[in-house]
Amino acid sequence: MKILEEKRLNIFLDKLGKQAQLFDVRESILPPKRYFFPSREITFTFDKKSKSLSSQKAPKDFILFGISLKDLEAITYLDEIMQKPARDDFYFNKRDKSILIGLTGKEFNVAPGGDIILRKLKNDEYEVVVVTKKGEKFLKRLDFPFTCLPAGKEEKDRVEYKISKSKTMVELHGLLSDPELLHDAVKWSWQGYPEIWDKLAGECLNCGICTYVCPLCHCFSVEDEMDLSGDECRRCRKWDACTLPEFAKVAGGIGRPGHSFHKGVKERYYNWFYHKFVRGYLEFGKSQCVTCGRCKKYCPARIDIEEVLLEIMNRFKKIKN
Ligand code: SF4
Ligand code: SF4
Repeated sequence: MKILEEKRLNIFLDKLGKQAQLFDVRESILPPKRYFFPSREITFTFDKKSKSLSSQKAPKDFILFGISLKDLEAITYLDEIMQKPARDDFYFNKRDKSILIGLTGKEFNVAPGGDIILRKLKNDEYEVVVVTKKGEKFLKRLDFPFTCLPAGKEEKDRVEYKISKSKTMVELHGLLSDPELLHDAVKWSWQGYPEIWDKLAGECLNCGICTYVCPLCHCFSVEDEMDLSGDECRRCRKWDACTLPEFAKVAGGIGRPGHSFHKGVKERYYNWFYHKFVRGYLEFGKSQCVTCGRCKKYCPARIDIEEVLLEIMNRFKKIKN
């Protein structure tokens, strides 16, 4: 078993930084998706003078350090999502250049994703768990002098993952264990329990924060930008959010105001749930949520996704029984 002592963590980080560009994501509010799917990226540029198109530059290798288990799970799922309906090359060009290093004290039996995971042990040490071949090759190249301990020691020394013990996480996690039931309940709620969506429409501020901070939300818009001289045009893709008024707007003809498929907050906020719990289940057999809790934490209106789902589920079960 390879061990990294906590007091040598900074030396380890220095060494990582010499291998490739290093991003320490331990304190980050935004999820790691932004390194593969940036909030704004130029997909290609058109130069009017030379009449030439230039595509996006190839990214350099980079390392993400300190990713939580939930975010690792989200990246694994996002990898799956970005394959459909066609492989998203802008995402995978960056994803393929990344080394993911997770940080956790949580007990895990199944590899949750990432290339390497540092698992906290009780005596200020991390067990270095290699998850992928890519991670194994990287560590070999890094050639860091880890301490080696006999196998089996980690079982009694492992630190418990405290956040997972909170009531909120456990209940939300429990709901997601039956994505089919969640699909049925959320779908039913639009007509069967419209009061809840009326109530939320009165609370939601249309800010889009829940979408931006979610490690799984991946909707985007495409816009063309022209520089002031008019010589260069850039095609950009930008994060979008189904809770924003512009999201479902389509052209309505010259001189007409345009049409929106989701005019009100009620339709838009329900659409966010629909994508995660109805469409997500139909397309991938699971809900698009990893219970990271960011949407609840950063929502300025203090809307709690777990409370909403529990209320829908309770009502749904009463009606169906
Ligand atoms: S973060 Fe809260 S207020 Fe903002 S769009 Fe999401 S639910 Fe509405
Ligand atoms: S808890 Fe909220 S932010 Fe986190 S994955 Fe689920 S929907 Fe997204």
